[in-house]
Amino acid sequence: MTAGEHSSMDRVPMMVANWKMNLTASESEAFASQFVSLMQAHTEALGTRLEIAIAPAYPALDRLGRALAGSGIMLAAQNLHAEESGAFTGEVSLAMLEDLGCDFALIGHSERRQLFGETDTVIAAKAQRLEASSVCPILCVGETLEEREQDATLAVVDSQLAAVLDATGDGLASRMVVAYEPVWAIGTGRTATPEMAQTVHAAIRRTLVSRLGAVGKRTRILYGGSVKPSNASALLSQPDIDGALVGGASLDPDSFAKLALASLETS
Ligand code: PEP
Repeated sequence: MTAGEHSSMDRVPMMVANWKMNLTASESEAFASQFVSLMQAHTEALGTRLEIAIAPAYPALDRLGRALAGSGIMLAAQNLHAEESGAFTGEVSLAMLEDLGCDFALIGHSERRQLFGETDTVIAAKAQRLEASSVCPILCVGETLEEREQDATLAVVDSQLAAVLDATGDGLASRMVVAYEPVWAIGTGRTATPEMAQTVHAAIRRTLVSRLGAVGKRTRILYGGSVKPSNASALLSQPDIDGALVGGASLDPDSFAKLALASLETS
């Protein structure tokens, strides 16, 4: 069996917004009211044909969560600390995210790796923290431009994936979502072509299937890197691209709704 041959119908597509350090709590609430009304006609599809999650900045989690309650749109955190609690000034624990009703948490985003020095070891510890929780990890992996030019893309992505799979059990792997985000495509306006992205997604799928068997066939693999309404359909129609993790284009309710609908159309 080749990667992607296993029906992508077994995998509910996902559209995830990563707002990074944008939008206050009030702005997040205003976004939610517009976005929920734009998605009103499609609520029956949420959960079965499409999952949508939004990762606001920490201070907006509470109010955004309340504004999204009952809409079927889920809440995600952009990060968490690996320790349970304690003297970690400025950090946020898993229990705090659980208390706010987070469904997902991003781990290993390239901005955390590059700007905040997070290593594979730190990211694996965060994944371990999530093992006994219902908060589901969205593990971000991806190569820098230099690594791509050195033909190291697949090796880099594989080792980032292995660092987490080696440290965690099958329970976590069965819920984990992977996001392939080439670093050179994040926030730059440069997107991987659908074929380039599919090649890496297929390689990730092969690794997941060889390590996890049937579970790996069901793991959602999202693409991230300058996804916008004009390029979404071509990316999302690739067999191993199960949705997208979106930064810039998720900050506007109309554009994020267009992306959600593109995902529904290609599902
Ligand atoms: C991201 O932050 O994960 C991302 C993909 O950003 P952008 O869509 O702006 O490239």
